[in-house]
Amino acid sequence: MYREIGIFVVFLLLVSVILIISALYIGRGRLKEKSSFAAGIVAGVLDFYYKPMMGWIQVFSGSPQRLHEIMVHTKNEAAKKKFRLTEKRIIVAPHCMRHRDCPAHVTRTGIQCRSCGRCVYTQILKIAEREHYKVFIVTGSSSVKHVLRSDEAKGTDGILAVGCYYELNKGMRELSGNRRLTVCGYPMLDSGCYNTTIDLIGFENFIKDLRHPDFKERKTSDFREEKEDLTETGDNDWKSGIRKDGKRAGGSSGSGMSGGRA
Ligand code: SF4
Repeated sequence: MYREIGIFVVFLLLVSVILIISALYIGRGRLKEKSSFAAGIVAGVLDFYYKPMMGWIQVFSGSPQRLHEIMVHTKNEAAKKKFRLTEKRIIVAPHCMRHRDCPAHVTRTGIQCRSCGRCVYTQILKIAEREHYKVFIVTGSSSVKHVLRSDEAKGTDGILAVGCYYELNKGMRELSGNRRLTVCGYPMLDSGCYNTTIDLIGFENFIKDLRHPDFKERKTSDFREEKEDLTETGDNDWKSGIRKDGKRAGGSSGSGMSGGRA
């Protein structure tokens, strides 16, 4: 009896290891959008084995960054087709990208950006308006619940989340149980919860790629012109994604989402 149980456990372990290795291999940027079904399976396998994988990574003192990149990438590929058909979309993005002297006030649904030009949110709001998204700048993952319950977000069926890979993966996992919502994620150039930024060109390309088939561009006033005219006052040069400390903002090893390669 014990022998049979032992054989069964070993068999399960072997199957799990094979599934994990296959999912990681397939998910390493090899999935294309037309294989969204395969991407969904890979994402499901990685979600199922997420905790054991994190356990192994901790045991071997590794970094989970690449795992989170692969998971976000596969979830995006699985969700894109469905996302394009969504009717009411919101962007949920973190407050760590705003300038330290941000004049905006905070409400239950997040930071009420005044488009003051000090940080990347001025441009994100313009892109969002043109692309028919409402932006919520949240102060933490618990704020997302308030946002989704708010009147402003009523009827939302598409969420474009912005964040570091860890937070994106966490948020996408948490929202995956909600059948009404389709979620895609776009990574920031860096993590650390302070003075973060985003590749605006890559973000713009990503969002354009998610347009509804019946999309009609909403004109924002002199969009490009204002983008060039805004004075840079933040710690990051958010127009180029270059930090003032001289480094390319980031730490992202690139999963095909930055720099317009989404
Ligand atoms: S643009 Fe940035 S700094 Fe200015 S109000 Fe909006 S979030 Fe705050």
